[in-house]
Amino acid sequence: MNVLLIGSGGREHALAWKLAQSPRLGKLFAAPGNPGIADFAELVPLDPADHEAIVRFCLTNDIALVVVGPEVPLVAGLVDDLEAARIPAFGPTKAAAQLEGSKAYTKELCATYDIPTARHRSFVEPAGAKHYIRQKGAPIVVKADGLAAGKGVVVAMSVEEAEAAVDMMFAGSLGAAGESIVIEEFMTGEEVSYFCLVDGEHVLPFGSAQDHKRAYDGDEGPNTGGMGAYSPAPVFTPDLEARALEEIVKPTARAMKALGNPFRGVLYAGLMLTPEGPKLVEYNVRFGDPECQVLMRRLKSDLLEIVQATADGTLDKITCEWSDDPALTVVLASKGYPGDFQKGSEIANLDAAEGVENVTVFHAGTRSDGTKILSWGGRVLNVTATGKDLAEARTRAYSAVDLIDWPEGFCRRDIGWRALTN
Ligand code: AMP
Repeated sequence: MNVLLIGSGGREHALAWKLAQSPRLGKLFAAPGNPGIADFAELVPLDPADHEAIVRFCLTNDIALVVVGPEVPLVAGLVDDLEAARIPAFGPTKAAAQLEGSKAYTKELCATYDIPTARHRSFVEPAGAKHYIRQKGAPIVVKADGLAAGKGVVVAMSVEEAEAAVDMMFAGSLGAAGESIVIEEFMTGEEVSYFCLVDGEHVLPFGSAQDHKRAYDGDEGPNTGGMGAYSPAPVFTPDLEARALEEIVKPTARAMKALGNPFRGVLYAGLMLTPEGPKLVEYNVRFGDPECQVLMRRLKSDLLEIVQATADGTLDKITCEWSDDPALTVVLASKGYPGDFQKGSEIANLDAAEGVENVTVFHAGTRSDGTKILSWGGRVLNVTATGKDLAEARTRAYSAVDLIDWPEGFCRRDIGWRALTN
């Protein structure tokens, strides 16, 4: 079968790498893709926002399944437009993608169906929000309702900081995402990313990971899209996983079906492991990036069979096999990221890095000029390794990182610290 993969990041490179191992795959296309993905797929210069062009491409290229990597096309309804043209897709419809697209939607759903999460109130104007903040006191969390590329959450340590966040969001600096806000109770505990596949009805647990959101070592510096990850998360014991599945993910899947918006795709629960048990921080409706990279390195089963079963509603027929070896990925980013950075510097010696035992280098923001690989984004490469334990995976990943010749890049040197020092 022919497959079209939407996206251009490290997540999509990992998905392409894994899909290409499937005996079911005919031809893989990627839109727009990146130079790493080009090793496995024909790149097509389609804009993921141009749904009409994507539908036309699928119909003329006999595409039997579209795998959508990022959240923006999902929230914009790409899957609805594909389904209207009878093209099967892996990913939720626009209505179901509200689980990521609107924090207020998810919070209301949790309240209605008794799903454990931080207590909250939603506001559409600043005065009521500030009054509520003064009543509750700090620490307190202020969130823009809509998609804000990771910039819509302020964990405020003082009432003043929380009020300033309210003003910032209502002043329009986050665009439409900040027209409505959610204020919620501050939760304490360790955070875990928990992935499940849902086919509208059945839920298949798909592994856990922990990421590193801050730019610099010791969890210092500004928030980023993620500077590294490992899987599984040792802190997420089988007991905690069973609770998260039964108390959070399965009730959500049942609720979405009952609401007439059955969820199909990746339901990625950002969890806080609080003293009272796992609580939902947020949902995402696609794989995490870079968490996907470590999941794909551990998955032994045929990814194409699994995503097809998710789209077809037959996940109950699937059992997933995972490698016992943990995986760890280190993100190489352009100096300056997540602020301003230069594009176009040469990255050399990637072959040597990939020569390290059990290492795969996934591309994110790169471009090829025909002979050389150039940096072309904030997060540029994901150096990913497996090992008999996390320490070995980390040693391998950093030996590969050290072979890459790219003076304009940087990475954190402490990926995995939580799991390795616990
Ligand atoms: P979100 O985009 O909702 O995942 O929030 C981004 C980050 O803010 C999370 O990964 C947490 O580290 C933090 N955060 C969000 N909500 C809370 C909360 N209620 N209590 C404590 N930290 C939170």
